[in-house]
Amino acid sequence: MYSDRINALPPYLFAAIDDARDEMIAAGVDVIDLGVGDPDLPTHPHIVEAMREAVCDPKTHHYPSYAGMPEFRKAAAEWCKKYKGIELDPATEVLSLIGSKEAVAHIPIAFVNPGDVVLYTDPGYPVYKIGTLFAGGEPHPLPLTAENNFLPDLDSIPEDVLKKAKLFFFNYPNNPTAATADMKFFNKVVKFCKKHDIIAVHDNAYCQMTYDGYESPSFLSAKGAMDVGMELYSHSKTYNMTGWRLGFAVGNKELIKGLGKVKSNVDSGVFDAIQIAGIAALRSSQASVEETNKIYEERRDALVEGLKAMGIEVKSPKATFYVWAPVPKGFTSISFAKLLLEDAGIVATPGVGFGEAGEGYIRFALTKPVERIKEAVERMKKLRL
Ligand SMILES: *Cc1c(COP(=O)(O)O)cnc(C)c1O
Repeated sequence: MYSDRINALPPYLFAAIDDARDEMIAAGVDVIDLGVGDPDLPTHPHIVEAMREAVCDPKTHHYPSYAGMPEFRKAAAEWCKKYKGIELDPATEVLSLIGSKEAVAHIPIAFVNPGDVVLYTDPGYPVYKIGTLFAGGEPHPLPLTAENNFLPDLDSIPEDVLKKAKLFFFNYPNNPTAATADMKFFNKVVKFCKKHDIIAVHDNAYCQMTYDGYESPSFLSAKGAMDVGMELYSHSKTYNMTGWRLGFAVGNKELIKGLGKVKSNVDSGVFDAIQIAGIAALRSSQASVEETNKIYEERRDALVEGLKAMGIEVKSPKATFYVWAPVPKGFTSISFAKLLLEDAGIVATPGVGFGEAGEGYIRFALTKPVERIKEAVERMKKLRL
């Protein structure tokens, strides 16, 4: 019944864990779910207010423009200039997105032919691989390891792979490892992509979710990056807007045009009222982003201190709302997730679910109030490891 591309989808690894979780919740167990990367906090009120006004205006009730409202693209370009120091032409170098996930899935359709290789960081957002498979491309994972600070080793890619490589997906601040990249790495990516004629796609979903004064740079601020790449921004994590489906792509105008060609044949753009709310998010004071980050920072500290007290060697992340922790000796990522669930009522995501190189790790999402995180730590301390 299903197409080959659906039949070729990798098996869903967590079915058994999901079932066990649902059974426990149904049985009345007080489960602490640190599994999902979806903010528990509401969208900032001034953004909701802008939406409320916009949705009452019948002018917003029609098909939107494919590329996005000119005012939205202008606001996105101004935001990029103000917070990331990059210059963009809103008419040709900015495109509205129905969240960045659709862009990740559509980009290979725009640029990849059957047999072309797509490089991507592993562990990683599952859509890099699946979007590639849907387009008939060959996914080639680049393992992220602690020894390399969770940056891919671009020098170790075999020559025959490089010859076929067309596209490279990477993501810093990173989900799931919470690693960050500096300009040195981005400069290296530009050189690498120029040398091998590869399109660079930087997924920048977590760039504003940062702590301890860390500021996350834009890939496009690397010299020459606009020649080879594009960058994806998302309102989802920055403004607690996952459900609204809004983001934007910026970068090289031919690349933006290519993605736009796919999108204009598949979707019909973002509801204007959502774009108007998105403009309010981009143009208003970013104080509410800072406040949200303070909340995550407190949660992070509670979890990291707790894990360290248990003897788990974990790095305190400078960005993202994830803690990427090595599993204790004798466990796989799945067996440890199972133990956490069954013996402590805690949901966390086994690293292997993000790719083979994620084995040996577990991802905690800081998406519950600090009291619940402290409760999770108390429960974990009682485990016999
Ligand atoms: C959450 C997330 C996104 C954002 O997806 P949207 O479709 O914009 O909600 C993109 N990339 C990564 C790695 C993510 O974790």
